Amino acid sequence: MSLLSVVVPCYNEEETVELFYDALTGVLKTMDMEYEILFVNDGSKDATLEKLCALHDRGEGRVKIIDFSRNFGKESAMLAGLREAKGDYVTVMDTDLQDPPEYLPRMFEVMEKNGDDVVGTRRVTRKGEPKIRSWFARQFYKLINRYTEVEIVDGARDFRLMKRQVIDSILELEEYDRFSKGLFVWVGYKCEYLEYENVERVAGETKWSFWKLVRYALDGIIEYTNMPLSIAFWVGGFLTVIMGIVLLVQLICILCGKAIAFNAVLICLVLFLGGAILLASGILGEYLAKTYDEVRKRPHYIVRRKYE
Ligand code: UDP
Ligand code: MG
Repeated sequence: MSLLSVVVPCYNEEETVELFYDALTGVLKTMDMEYEILFVNDGSKDATLEKLCALHDRGEGRVKIIDFSRNFGKESAMLAGLREAKGDYVTVMDTDLQDPPEYLPRMFEVMEKNGDDVVGTRRVTRKGEPKIRSWFARQFYKLINRYTEVEIVDGARDFRLMKRQVIDSILELEEYDRFSKGLFVWVGYKCEYLEYENVERVAGETKWSFWKLVRYALDGIIEYTNMPLSIAFWVGGFLTVIMGIVLLVQLICILCGKAIAFNAVLICLVLFLGGAILLASGILGEYLAKTYDEVRKRPHYIVRRKYE
């Protein structure tokens, strides 16, 4: 029988882990398949670890816990889980039941029927989410899909069923800053998406503030495209040419003995140019910071203890 590994990042999820476990195992038991559940406790400050340990005791050896030394973020938690997963098939799921476990059997069916390597899920609605957040999310997908080589499907979740080979390819990518939504797509393979309506969290609250999401989106763009660098280049180039012309005109005026009232214009131009330079160096800084993170080669996470 083949083995399915379910990777579950948890951060302050004391209210949801049990609900999730019951729902998940309810579905897994109906499937003709061995399974393991890998909970990654991402430095939770509440009773998540105790709850997980209780599940570990109930789990008949099918539940493993990786306990981080602090909060390293969902990306690191996913990576730890994927590295640890031994399954022929692997999936990543949130604990809040926003990734409905009932979809697993269907995902397997589709995978088998169409010979896919990956079956992902995407929510086609964003009901229950603040309107402004949905709007920004849609703009992000438009932007990243227009300017990057990876095609990230709008609303695609990290909840995707992947074959062993795909996981091995993903683990070969060793970059420090991981933007999994992109990595999952970057590796390629035959992939298809099941669509569903957004489901709201069963309990607890989201760990993503608006600004955390903005940072996440910026990371995604910077990691997958050098387009912002070329914007800086082109805007800089354009300004230099315009400024050159303005200076030339001024010079000619002065030479012809004409009075010029360029002061106001000049101040505007100087400020504008100053802004453009700051922007360009800011963009450079973002890339430099990423490079710095990469060369430092710090581990993605530190494991305090594993419960096998
Ligand atoms: N999560 C995590 N580390 C973090 C933030 C979130 O492991 O630093 C987990 C969280 O416990 C949940 C999943 O990632 O299982 C998705 O988080 P959340 O539901 O808050 O995100 P949303 O669904 O609102 O995008
Ligand atoms: Mg959620």
